[in-house]
Amino acid sequence: MTPEEFRAAGHELIDWIADFRERVPELPVRAETEPGDVRRALATAPPETPDSLADLVADLDRVIVPGLTQIQSPSYFAWFPSNASLASVLGDLTSSGLGALGITWQSAPALTELEEVVTEWLRELTGLAPGWHGAIHDTASSGCLVAMLAARERASSFSEMRGGLQGEPSPYVVYSSPHAHSSIPKAVLLAGFGHDNLRYVGTDPATFAMDPESLRAAMATDVAAGRVPAAVVVSLGTTGTTAFDPTPEIVAVAREFGAWVHVDAAMAGSAMLLPECRHLFAGVDDADSIGWNPHKWLGTVLDTSLLYVRDVDLLVRVMATNPSYLQSSVDGSVVQYKDWGIPLGRRFRALKLWFHLRLDGAEAIRARLRRDLANAQWLAAVVRDEPEWELVAPVLLQTVCVRHVPTTSVGGAVPDADALDAHTRSWVEALNATGLAFVTPALHEGRWMVRVSIGAEATERSDVERLWQLMRSTASVST
Ligand code: PLP
Repeated sequence: MTPEEFRAAGHELIDWIADFRERVPELPVRAETEPGDVRRALATAPPETPDSLADLVADLDRVIVPGLTQIQSPSYFAWFPSNASLASVLGDLTSSGLGALGITWQSAPALTELEEVVTEWLRELTGLAPGWHGAIHDTASSGCLVAMLAARERASSFSEMRGGLQGEPSPYVVYSSPHAHSSIPKAVLLAGFGHDNLRYVGTDPATFAMDPESLRAAMATDVAAGRVPAAVVVSLGTTGTTAFDPTPEIVAVAREFGAWVHVDAAMAGSAMLLPECRHLFAGVDDADSIGWNPHKWLGTVLDTSLLYVRDVDLLVRVMATNPSYLQSSVDGSVVQYKDWGIPLGRRFRALKLWFHLRLDGAEAIRARLRRDLANAQWLAAVVRDEPEWELVAPVLLQTVCVRHVPTTSVGGAVPDADALDAHTRSWVEALNATGLAFVTPALHEGRWMVRVSIGAEATERSDVERLWQLMRSTASVST
């Protein structure tokens, strides 16, 4: 494709994307595709000769769009809001269009230094202290793995340079809330700690936040048995109910035992942009690392996850490689992001945040986050006031966790816990099958509930009101 051909095709495609975004509200929210439908609908042989853009776009309309759950729908209330900002879509397009390759500072100085600028902007906007240094990773899962590797090496005095964990006399232990996201145990396992050395610490039964005294007791037990506390993961905004572990108390306990503190604020981190929410993040400046995802509620398009650390030298010592073909005369005086994480090659991801922040502006982003918080409080209030409905957890941000608890009967019988679970799953499925809205059920403390995650860019109060009507009607029909 020549630049001239690209220009023509690009104009057409941008028009198509803009039209698509305009018609999203009319589309079924949940993909109504059966497994294998998409594969069957697409040509089986790879093209030997060029297709036309028109044919390709026709397939987008015919197969791809119907094969997607509409995350940008105003009636999308499932997992978490994500990927919204069209300004950041332009940044993503620019990133690909520039064709830049980030492998060292010298391969793309602007790629490196813009990443320094935008991570610094986000540090300021979120009120984090100046001592933090950030990089953009693909996901919070990768960020947490990097943090666990750094924690492992700090605790073991760089065992990677000897026999690794396999050569160590004592096991190293990591602690987290049982409500932590599944990426946390995954990172712990991949970093080589082993399942037997992952402790789920007790939580407060009302807030579902980690109990610091249980943490202290678990660490003391491990030390007495000859094990070494290496890290604790603080969840700020758990996936299920947006619980916030008490950071200052956890940091104090971790310090007593010399353990690294990683803060996972993947979903909730966007709230740090709001001064009125910062109290939820008190104490994070005393942690060793913090990760959060602008590609969630903030709306920057994937893959834009931030990992900040305080001790860059330590991170670089754990991650650095120095093959001769990447060396240059500026080494030592510039940031080499290849030494801040796992991959060598990096995309020009900073452009997504740069476009998003410059074209939308922080003020509008904050206003949107506040709108979502107010919508969540509105829904929480009507649920609280409605007989037969209950809030499962405190509503601290934009996620409202609910259950419909019929007082009469479910299937002719008084609902015991299993019948209530069946009822919950049944009305959620009925609601989602309408295509008019999409919410997700989840297990919480062993029982099913429904998470209403508010925050799609297009979601206004009227959409939340419509959802509430739909919840009430489907839940009462399913009774
Ligand atoms: N942590 C929390 C609290 C999450 O909610 C999620 C995703 O939902 C993650 C981590 C993982 O995020 P990612 O998909 O960026 O790895």
